[in-house]
Amino acid sequence: MPDDFTQLDDFAFFLNNVTPDMTPEQWQNFSKAARKRKLFFPRPFKFPSFTEWLTLDEAKTLRTEIARDLGHRDKNPQRWFARLLGTLNRLELKTKYDCNPVGFYGKPRPGQVILKVGKNQFVPRVYPEATTARELLYVTLGAALMDGRLERLKTCGFCKQWTAGKKTSKKFCSTVCKDNFNNQRRLSEGDHNKRRAAARRRRLLRVSKD
Ligand SMILES: [Zn+2]
Repeated sequence: MPDDFTQLDDFAFFLNNVTPDMTPEQWQNFSKAARKRKLFFPRPFKFPSFTEWLTLDEAKTLRTEIARDLGHRDKNPQRWFARLLGTLNRLELKTKYDCNPVGFYGKPRPGQVILKVGKNQFVPRVYPEATTARELLYVTLGAALMDGRLERLKTCGFCKQWTAGKKTSKKFCSTVCKDNFNNQRRLSEGDHNKRRAAARRRRLLRVSKD
């Protein structure tokens, strides 16, 4: 499931907004914004908007769980995906096969198999079927893990907000945060150097007194 499934930007939006102390009023505003940006897609037809699919409490629980699974990498950089894999495997999702006309999912991926039947062209697919909001979000994270995009979803090195940059190497959500981080580092390095120079002066002073 490539980009026809939920974008990682949606996860950053979800993780940054659905905080543990979110009020029902904030949830209402979030719902409006979610409808506008068609948050988390595809969904079953009976849920025209993602926020109709789950309650605020369910959203908070899900948000905590996802943040925890993704946050695992900070403690275990050598196997940062382990916790996510655990959750994915415990879902025991059913596999679904389908075959839709070319263009149904947007542009076919490079190397995508295309079935030609007379004048018609189809794209065959196999994927884990998501029947709940939680499953959809995890299936999407699993897809991002499989196609190598998941590392783009991370917290900013300065403001700690979730961000989903185009590049895996991106460490900050914006150039403002990058500049702030570097300025802060320079400042603390400056302080450090000043402290070291002061300590050196004190030592020299002591030596000259002796
Ligand atoms: Zn930031």
